Amino acid sequence: MVVDLSALDATGLVVVGWRSGEEGLRLHLRGRSDEVRLRCRCGRSHWIVREHVTPDGRTMRLTCHACGAHVSLPREGNQVLAR
Ligand SMILES: [Zn+2]
Repeated sequence: MVVDLSALDATGLVVVGWRSGEEGLRLHLRGRSDEVRLRCRCGRSHWIVREHVTPDGRTMRLTCHACGAHVSLPREGNQVLAR
């Protein structure tokens, strides 16, 4: 299925895995059995992926190939420190 960037923001899901294919980036999200294609607000689904590990956890940063929009998503394995 295809999910718009704005819709994904609202759901706050966690990325379990991802892969890049001919038709764009596919995300495997926690709690979903089907893979999701993330569509940018410009209508494209091609993203440059960078994974980051910080003291707060793991994130994956996506930058749109076409328009340069970016979004950060939490990756499974995040360890949120209790305060
Ligand atoms: Zn874009």
